[in-house]
Amino acid sequence: MNKASNAKRRQLVVGNWKMNGNLHENADLLVKVVAGWQGEHNADVVICPPFPYLIHTGSLLSGSAILLGAQTTSEHSKGAYTGEVSASMLADLDCKFVIIGHNERRRLQGETDEQVARQFIAVQQAGLIPILCVGESLKDREQGRQLETIGRQLDAVFAHTGKDVFNNAVLAYEPVWAVGTGKTATPEQAEEVHRFMRAQLGELAGKVRILYGGSVKAHNAQQLFALPDIDGALLGGASLDADEFLAICRAAD
Ligand code: PEP
Repeated sequence: MNKASNAKRRQLVVGNWKMNGNLHENADLLVKVVAGWQGEHNADVVICPPFPYLIHTGSLLSGSAILLGAQTTSEHSKGAYTGEVSASMLADLDCKFVIIGHNERRRLQGETDEQVARQFIAVQQAGLIPILCVGESLKDREQGRQLETIGRQLDAVFAHTGKDVFNNAVLAYEPVWAVGTGKTATPEQAEEVHRFMRAQLGELAGKVRILYGGSVKAHNAQQLFALPDIDGALLGGASLDADEFLAICRAAD
């Protein structure tokens, strides 16, 4: 699909498996996805399995156009941080992208804007591409404070990194009330926030890919991807079903 305002941005679809799968189910899913995504495409596809399955997933994706990503990383490069995984370890395993600031990490693991900013830096220092998630809660949305919340989340990262480094980063707008709930932002709601986020990027506004995430399915993907400021999707549930996932990848292609 050709969009006048983003002719130079390639669409990107990222599958976040969250804490799902096992060796057998993953192999089944990956074989189907790889078989359905052969040849040349105009969209990039990334799969982010849980840490223990990165090597297995990487080997099943090898030779395909689908890239490997991770769901989070430590802000630290090494040391006494039991249970943590550094960005350079992810680079060792051929990850290319790392999701950071996912609302489940912010809400359930208490990750702060500042930690997310440090993770962003760690990911780039390891030569990987951060996918920085931001999004408002239902309360923020009901009070009309979505842009204020997202502006604050972005500014927390900009304060540590500056804006230039977003040349090598991806943003994702994920309204908390839409993730895993079956409720999707309307095209108008999504486009308002994406336009706002793009404007915050200053000189890089036209260059950075901004994904939408929140209950994207095959039936609503096309409508979202047609919007001028949406450059693809971050998927949770839909990435666990090969047919659904491939249908969304094709809608982005
Ligand atoms: C997500 O986890 O980032 C997500 C968007 O989930 P879902 O597609 O299931 O809403």
